[in-house]
Formats: sequence, structure tokens, C-alpha cells
Amino acid sequence: MPEDAPKAAELALGNPSHVSTVSRRLQHLPLFQQRQDPEFLKIFEIVDAMPLDDTHCHLVTDRDAITTPKRFLERISLAGFPFPNYFPEGVYERWLNGDEPTKYALNKEYDIQSKVDGMTSHLSQSVFIRFMTKEMAQFLGCEPSFEAVIEARNDRGSSYWSYVNNLFRDVNYENIIHDTGYVEGVGQAEIEAFEKAIQPCRSHRIARIEAIQDELFGLDIAFEEFEARFTKRLLEILDGDANYGKRTIGMKSYLLPDIGLIKPLYDRTFAAHSWNALRKSFCDRSRMDREDAANITKDLCRYTFTLSLEECLKRDIPMQIHTGDGEAPGVMLRNQDPFYLEEVVRFDKDNIMRMPKIVPLHAGYPSVGKAAWLSHLYPNCYFEVSIMTPFVHQSLYDRYKQVLEAVPISKILFASDNFHVPELFWLAGRWGKRYLSQALTDYVVGGSLTLEEATEAARMILYKNNRVLYNLE
Ligand SMILES: [Zn+2]
Repeated sequence: MPEDAPKAAELALGNPSHVSTVSRRLQHLPLFQQRQDPEFLKIFEIVDAMPLDDTHCHLVTDRDAITTPKRFLERISLAGFPFPNYFPEGVYERWLNGDEPTKYALNKEYDIQSKVDGMTSHLSQSVFIRFMTKEMAQFLGCEPSFEAVIEARNDRGSSYWSYVNNLFRDVNYENIIHDTGYVEGVGQAEIEAFEKAIQPCRSHRIARIEAIQDELFGLDIAFEEFEARFTKRLLEILDGDANYGKRTIGMKSYLLPDIGLIKPLYDRTFAAHSWNALRKSFCDRSRMDREDAANITKDLCRYTFTLSLEECLKRDIPMQIHTGDGEAPGVMLRNQDPFYLEEVVRFDKDNIMRMPKIVPLHAGYPSVGKAAWLSHLYPNCYFEVSIMTPFVHQSLYDRYKQVLEAVPISKILFASDNFHVPELFWLAGRWGKRYLSQALTDYVVGGSLTLEEATEAARMILYKNNRVLYNLE
């Protein structure tokens, strides 16, 4: 969008003197969607002005500054996110970045274009995309059609970072904690560019256990050497600045989709067996059944997970664990049940439950009730709302009530799981505040919370709990 942007976009970027916050946020919705009762309007006005902390998300790079409707669908959708995994390794990237003859040859061999067309056509038919289109059209000051939204977005591509910054300021992010285990191959410079672009929002980082493993699993070294190097790297990340030039404020694990139930493993002899079996499997791993392949490294990964969780426990910092959700076709969906985390939430050793701080991610979606119940039962288990926020869109109203029926308010953490494109940060903030306000209004109207209790609950969920858990000032 050019600098002399239409007035509607100026309003959307936030100038409260033009129009009240409430009407600004709600004016584009059809009347039947607008909740008009004074209880809601009062709560929403307060909640909408609150800061936001994002407890789990991923960086944005400038590679999506200019896009196409199809590419945007792929980049924003969880179902489209792993397109490359539908083809042999490296093929999709060669097709995407190739010249016409390369594309032609790869289409002939793998039928890529028609498969991508088929997938994006279904992706475009979701209520999520239709609703997002209307919201973005209001923000960008354009017609509410998907093509017009992408065109208006591309107009802003030349000053992409200021567009990203505007999205952040519009919903008032003050802190984000981003997981550097998924950075699409970029390095420290790109990470720092992103962190600078979103200022004054402050950035904090989480490191992934699998990122350390990826550096080491392929090396031709003995188990003892692997163990020493793993521990050294882990300590550098936790206590030094080895997370791309910064300290980490917690760890993240992506183990659940691989193995299901995670039982801590303290016996290094099992891990050593697993390490040796992995070395033997190298030559035929690509042809192996994926579950068999995961079983080979199961004990090794249980062991590295246990080593990492011990270090988190010593420092009293949280471990985020991927739960529910799932980037098919690269994961085993059946393994992602929140109850499979019970043993690591307990973290028993010598008959003592040690109860480290555990943050199951993604609301356990679609098993939201199980993740909520786990958090209800174990005092050290938290609840994080990403993926569900923003992907269930209008149903967040019901989902937040489902969460609040079981989870103590003091454990609920706002998050977006933003990946690839910055609009997920913005949608999560916009819809998170709106539908949380609706859910809390029901409690006020029903008499279970006073107005003051409801607004304090919103403060805790949207930013205060995050600051307490991660010791942010
Ligand atoms: Zn994530």
C-alpha cells in the first residue's frame, strides 16, 4: 500500500481520536455478528486496549513480502505448510524456485502443479480464510475479496517490515517468545532483523532440543562423545548466548509426534544402544517405515529429553512440548495425545515426583479438553492457547469457555504459534481479545465473575501469566 493510504487503513492502524476503539474494532462485522450488550462492550473496550505477550511463536522473514493468493494460502495454512513433504526430499523446493523448463520437467515427473492446485483450492474454501479476508480487508482498506487483500498486501511489500510492525502495534504485542527450532534455514542476521522490526515489542527466545540433535545425530562419533557434545551445547544455550547470539529462556521439545507416550529415561545404556542402532540404520533409513525409524531413536530421544528437562528443572525454567496439532504428513497424528505427557509432568525419580514446569503447546488441539484436564490436575502443568488461536476463528468463544471451565486462570498463556506470515500474530491478537471478552462476559452476566475479576482474568491470560512464568520484567 502506498504511503498516501486510504483513510480506512489509517483508522485501522489506530488513531483513537477518530473513532472509539470498540466501534473501530466491530464496525466491519455484519450486525447479527456484533454483540451489542453493554456488558460485552464494556469488557471488550478494556480488554482490547491491553498488552499482549505471545508465549509461543516463530519468526517472520521477508520472503513472503510479495506473494500470490495460492502461495499465501500455502504459507498461512497448517494443511498447506508441509507441501514439500508430499514429494521426495528437495523436489518441491526445486520446483518452486526453478525456471520454466525445470518446472515443466518436475511437473511431468511428479505432477506438482495439479497437486498444489488441488490442495490450495480446498484451503481457500475454509471459513477461516473467508473470515480472515474480511478482517484483513478492513485493516488494509480494500475490497473484501481474497485477491484484493493479497494485492493490497503486496502493495505494502516494499516496506514489509513497517507493515509487520503496524500489525504488531495494532493488537499491542509487548513481548514474544519465539522458538528458534523452526527458522526455515535463516541465521542470526535474519532473526535479529525480525526482532528489530517488531520493536518496541521485546523478543525472547526458546531453543529446541531437536535443533541440537540435528547438529549431532549424523556425526560418526561414539555415544560418549555424542553425550558430551550434547550436554556442552545444551549448557551453552541455557547459560551462554548459543541460541543464535542470545540466551534461551526455556526449552522446547517436538518429541511427542514421533514416539507418543514420553517416559523419562535415566539409564544411558539404553540410549547408547539406540545411538548405535541409529548408526547402523543410516543406509536404509529413507526406505524405512516412519514408525520403525522413530522407534530406533526412541530411547536416545527419551534420554536427551530427560537430560534437557533436568537442566530446566535446575534453573526453574519451563519446557514447552509440542502437543496436539500436527504438520501432516510429516508427523504421526495418533501420538499427540496430551495425556501422553503425564509422566514428564510428574518427572518421577527414585519415587519422588519432581514436577518441572511443563507447557503443553497448541491447547492440545483438537484434544483441548484433555490438555485442560491435565493442567487442572497437575499444579506444574500450564495451558497454552496457540493454533486453536487463531485457527478456530469464531469458535474461540466456545473454546475459551471450555478451557476456563477446568484450567486455573493463573496458568492460561496467550500465544499465536505464528509461522511464515505475520498475519497470524495479528489474527490471534484480534480474535483472541474479542472472543475472550465474549467468554468472560458470559461469566459476568451469569454471576460467576465480577467485572473486575473478569478483566483481571484477561490481563493474566493475555500477558501477566507469561511474565511470571518466564521471569520477564
Ligand atoms: Zn510452534
